Amino acid sequence: TAPDFKALTAHAKENGFIYQSSEIYDGLAAAYDYGPNGVLLKNNLKEYWWKSMVQLHDNIVGIDASIFMHPKTWKASGHVDAFNDPLVDNKDSQKRYRADVLVEDHIDKIEGKLNKELTKARKRFGEAFDEAEYRRTNANVLRYQGQMDDVAGRLATAMTDGDMDALRQLIEDLGISEPDTGSKNWTEVRQFNLMFSTQLGNIAGEEGKLYLRPETAQGIFVNFTNVQKTTRQKLPFGIAQIGKAFRNEIVARQFIFRMREFEQMEMQFFIAPGTQQDWYAKWKEARLKWHLALHPQDKLRFHDHDNLAHYADAAVDIQFDFPFGFKELEGIHSRTDFDLGAHQELSGKKLQYFDPETKESYVPYVVETSIGADRLFLATLTHALRDEQVPGQDDPNNTRTVLALHPALAPTKAAIMPLKRNDERLVAMAKDIFDDLRFQFEVQYDDTGSIGKLYRRQDAVGTPFCITVDFDSLEDGTVTVRDRDTLEQVRVKKEELAGMIGPRVDM
Ligand code: ATP
Repeated sequence: TAPDFKALTAHAKENGFIYQSSEIYDGLAAAYDYGPNGVLLKNNLKEYWWKSMVQLHDNIVGIDASIFMHPKTWKASGHVDAFNDPLVDNKDSQKRYRADVLVEDHIDKIEGKLNKELTKARKRFGEAFDEAEYRRTNANVLRYQGQMDDVAGRLATAMTDGDMDALRQLIEDLGISEPDTGSKNWTEVRQFNLMFSTQLGNIAGEEGKLYLRPETAQGIFVNFTNVQKTTRQKLPFGIAQIGKAFRNEIVARQFIFRMREFEQMEMQFFIAPGTQQDWYAKWKEARLKWHLALHPQDKLRFHDHDNLAHYADAAVDIQFDFPFGFKELEGIHSRTDFDLGAHQELSGKKLQYFDPETKESYVPYVVETSIGADRLFLATLTHALRDEQVPGQDDPNNTRTVLALHPALAPTKAAIMPLKRNDERLVAMAKDIFDDLRFQFEVQYDDTGSIGKLYRRQDAVGTPFCITVDFDSLEDGTVTVRDRDTLEQVRVKKEELAGMIGPRVDM
């Protein structure tokens, strides 16, 4: 069984994956630190993305752009004028909320009632239950569905029009109350820009205002010509980047799902105008396939956007079934020539591509794939962490917690332990093996407990192999290799360890 969300966050902390930022000062909201195991797992996830995007594509290259960019970048991209969330304060609790999220939560509540109705009916009719028919005919279900459609429609219109009064009216009409206090005493809804700003040292006032980038994509767009010229890539080709992004999120909850400082893995694919539908479909499929190599199908789904961002002519999310429901893990956007066109206009520099075959110049179109490294991390933990009956044991009460990560993602590939920590010969041989293997992959030497305890500890952080040195090892040079998932143990010559484990933990 998968542990609940609280157990998951506790596990992440206790096992050195994720700590609250600045914890000794009671923490900073929506900021988190990756611990020793966390950084290894996150690096592996990033490497997996980078290899599949850059290394395995002839026509995708990487860059690492600066976090600070010329302030005009964010004017051109639309972030200064349009990167806003609708903010509403509760006058009694003095707490801030995202108006659209309050409405979405309300929709979730209605959906909850609808699902209850379906569950009841499923029980009542058993095998004979025809859900589609029931949805079409049952009065309660139709009423809930109607309410949901109505509210979602009004929300989408208000968001698309940027109509804050309509949003305020919606909150009022729905009678939405403040979760903690039940108060319905709301302020007006106003636009809140999500960019963090700071100041250049040597220029005073507005002129010196700098932003921390809210997405990595713009570092790719402004470098389009540099990269195209220096790599002599022909269209279609892509530029990929992994890096930090910053957003002053109003709703800062759900652990590393929504942070104010986070990491993105983005790829902008430059194409000829008119081919965007094709490429959008191709990347949509390719990205889902990529996720399916990591996560089971029933944890993933597409979600089309109801209201498109100002830069997009098509957009879809890949959602993951997080412990708090299906939520966006990755976005795939057809961004047209919006960004390059806007940068070309504001900078006065040509951002065009000369097609050697048609002898035409044009501003390329773009299809983007954008995934949060932290959300991928959370998805991976969610899916891998489980409490289970110990394999091969009959007693259902004999359980263990295991992080069933793919071996290529596991922070540590093998742990090496002497059967007895006070036997010099066992310790020396185990340390020799450790010193040998550490050049091939990430290994750990551990003699801080009984073997049983050490095995459990390695299970909890996802180490796929445990290598034990015992008294027979001293005689014949073989060691025991224990498999995390099956608990099978095999004897292996110590010289054969690298050859046996290496291919199984390779990316
Ligand atoms: P959401 O609707 O959840 O706020 P978004 O649509 O604003 O996300 P995008 O602008 O499409 O997100 O960003 C691309 C990806 O970056 C997202 O799919 C997500 O994985 C990641 N991401 C965005 N905001 C955050 C955040 N505050 N914390 C962690 N990851 C984030």
